[in-house]
Amino acid sequence: MTNNPVILTGDRTTGPLHIGHFAGSLRNRLRFQDSHDQYLLLADTQALTDNAHDPAKIRRSVMEVALDYLAVGIDPEKSTICLQSHLPALAELSMLYLNFVTVARLERNPTIKDEIRVRGFGHNVPAGFLCYPAAQAADITAFRATREPVGADQAPLIEQTNEIVRRINAAAEKDILPEAEAVIPRSGRLPGIDGKAKMSKSGGNAIPLSASPDAIATAVRAMYTDPGHLRIDDPGKVEGNVVFAYLDAFDEDEAAVQELKAQYGRGGLGDAVIKRRLNGVLEALIAPIRQRREEFAKHPDHVLNVIRAGTQRAREVTEATKRDVVNGLGLFQL
Ligand code: ATP
Ligand code: MG
Repeated sequence: MTNNPVILTGDRTTGPLHIGHFAGSLRNRLRFQDSHDQYLLLADTQALTDNAHDPAKIRRSVMEVALDYLAVGIDPEKSTICLQSHLPALAELSMLYLNFVTVARLERNPTIKDEIRVRGFGHNVPAGFLCYPAAQAADITAFRATREPVGADQAPLIEQTNEIVRRINAAAEKDILPEAEAVIPRSGRLPGIDGKAKMSKSGGNAIPLSASPDAIATAVRAMYTDPGHLRIDDPGKVEGNVVFAYLDAFDEDEAAVQELKAQYGRGGLGDAVIKRRLNGVLEALIAPIRQRREEFAKHPDHVLNVIRAGTQRAREVTEATKRDVVNGLGLFQL
């Protein structure tokens, strides 16, 4: 424990992490580990909220995500990697918090509304999914996190967390829980290789951080560019062109990328050239991650011990918060 601010981030264990995670969150987490008390939650119970039909995938993905963390350079000496389903205080706090939020409020949450639409749930939304903002409030507050790096579209979740915090503090008549501030990363969302607004594990449009050179090449070949750019001499669109979105995110030579964009816009630059460049950039990004991942994968016991030790540490922190909330609300003590 230090006096550093606490930060909680996490990933649903629905599959291996992808380059969108790297651009949108892992890169920042590598920086945060020196300046924050950082907890990384392997969010397997949250993954169940829309994957209850496939628990095997969620179980398998715990190791995948943990391997990705270690492979990109998350250091378990500095950051705590922990498993959501093995932190009972999170579930207990969720149950308590559900009494401080209404169904109408959950249904109005713009993030949830949008996710329900995208997943086509309609009225058949699993109750756990509708209620996950309360569970997320439990995650954030259990660690007493005060800074939450989230994408702009997730900001309503932090707002809802803080509403719950204020209600609980009001009921307890003292500030037992801190509010959290959303920290929106500048990088924004990385689109999928199909041109859809978001690369996602479940969307089938991702390049995993563990992708082989062949898989990278195949993904780059299939990548959405500008369907109107038929001949090399035609002017091409940079806006919405996934190749340029990725070059912006990962190519260190910004000036060269700007020059390529201008040339593409004028006409005279073929997709093959920009794709070749991107292929090189992605291979350079992924190769060292892939190599470290393969090394860690040879020692699953080590990875398991990292998760066990982190979860043990997290258990102490989250149990203490749960006691504070139960005591603060003045529930009966035995
Ligand atoms: P799923 O499809 O199962 O929802 P996902 O790919 O959306 O998976 P999550 O585990 O839901 O990944 O997201 C974990 C974190 O990674 C979140 O903080 C999220 O904002 C960030 N993230 C996910 N996808 C992207 C992306 N394409 N660009 C930037 N950040 C992303
Ligand atoms: Mg997601």
